[in-house]
Amino acid sequence: MIVSKKKNIFSLIPKVDDLLKEEKIKNLLKKAPRIIVVECIREHIDHIRNKIIKLDDQEAEAFKIDDIKLINDIIQSVELKNTMNLRKVINATGVVLHTNLGRAILSESIKEDVWNVASNYSTLEFDIDSGKRGTRYSHVEEIITKLTGAEAAMVVNNNAAAVLLVLDTLAKNKEVIVSRGQLVEIGGSFRIPDVMQQSGAKLVEVGTTNKTHISDYENAICEETGALLKVHTSNYRILGFTKEVPLKDIVDLGKKYNIPVVEDIGSGTFIDFSKYGLYKEPTVQESVLGGADIVTFSGDKLLGGPQAGIIVGKEKYIKAMKKNPYTRAFRVDKLTLAVLEATLRLYLNEIDAVRKIPTLRMLTMSFEEIMEKADALYKLLKACIKNCTFEKINGVSQVGGGSMPLEEMGTILISIKPKSLSINKFEQMLRNYKTPIIARISEDKVLLDVRTIKRNEFKIIADGLSHILMGQRGE
Ligand SMILES: *Cc1c(COP(=O)(O)O)cnc(C)c1O
Repeated sequence: MIVSKKKNIFSLIPKVDDLLKEEKIKNLLKKAPRIIVVECIREHIDHIRNKIIKLDDQEAEAFKIDDIKLINDIIQSVELKNTMNLRKVINATGVVLHTNLGRAILSESIKEDVWNVASNYSTLEFDIDSGKRGTRYSHVEEIITKLTGAEAAMVVNNNAAAVLLVLDTLAKNKEVIVSRGQLVEIGGSFRIPDVMQQSGAKLVEVGTTNKTHISDYENAICEETGALLKVHTSNYRILGFTKEVPLKDIVDLGKKYNIPVVEDIGSGTFIDFSKYGLYKEPTVQESVLGGADIVTFSGDKLLGGPQAGIIVGKEKYIKAMKKNPYTRAFRVDKLTLAVLEATLRLYLNEIDAVRKIPTLRMLTMSFEEIMEKADALYKLLKACIKNCTFEKINGVSQVGGGSMPLEEMGTILISIKPKSLSINKFEQMLRNYKTPIIARISEDKVLLDVRTIKRNEFKIIADGLSHILMGQRGE
């Protein structure tokens, strides 16, 4: 009878307690929490049980359990479950500010300062001079005003929060005038009209998608106008028959009617990228100098720091924002502040900033350096990996993070074509390697862009490729 035959097989399944007594599992328990080990054992046992249920009579007869394989599989599952979900990956995509991979990566040089704050009590809200309560913003305010020329500054969790806080403070229940050409949507559902609605400000759209004139703004001004808003179209460009009103003209208009002018420049930078042969993004200093009353920007886009929203501008407005209850809700923690202060300090010397802040380094990397990196990686891979063909080809890297959408930075790609593995499977295995390697696929090749790969990751890539392709021999 099938039933009794299967019953017999079910009795072959090892018990959880017996497996826990196995030498190898006992060793595992020294490294991994018991709760994870037991969970993995249960999963494997359930898997075997489900397999048995599906067996037919004949298969049941031949069924065996390989104890050694079972224990090894359990060990592997435990190792996988016992690593951090949030962990390092190798970005071989060439997208410098990769939103899904964490946007800006931080400078090695700030490690000690940041850890010092993180692992100790700190001056977060304590004024050493007076011995009294201080404010958490004071640590970065001075340096931000020094770098930007603004009267005052503050920091919240991200630029989306910054825009919301600004609009809520300046224009709640009032109207905000914005050009139809600047109703931006940034990835991750940040939409200017939605933020506006959330803040309780009423959006007044003026002009058309491609052209807005200063008279459009002026005609819309009335008793109810709370602010004039200019938004940097970070992630798209309107080309051809277009007109955007320069900040200066909006500022003049704001002065004439005594209405504050707010500029959301999105990817805020302190550096004129055109000096390095790249597209010129508006700098924060220019907006401040241009007379904007309030300027907002992100900390983890072109600035190359932590996720943060930085607000600079006239002191009276910043003061009002600090009193807004949203400020408490959007408050940054000490880790953010430590990373931000340490990163901003690097900007006191632009040469230092460009050399030490990875985002800036990757964006301004010379083609000679790219060629040299590509050579090194190519030679290493060619020397130690056999069952693949490698090529060096020309390609383009992207800035990413909704910045400089038209910029195409020339780069060198290492293209890899495994001999005995489909390209999709290969890419998937790279992704699932213990240090995930995130790469692009083009036709039947995997492409690695050396611009975003650190030199100390070359060896990890070589080890990963060996590991993946070794298991494929004879397939
Ligand atoms: C990126 C961006 C934002 C959102 O900034 P986050 O820091 O991601 O919240 C807002 N406005 C503009 C113009 C942007 O480019």
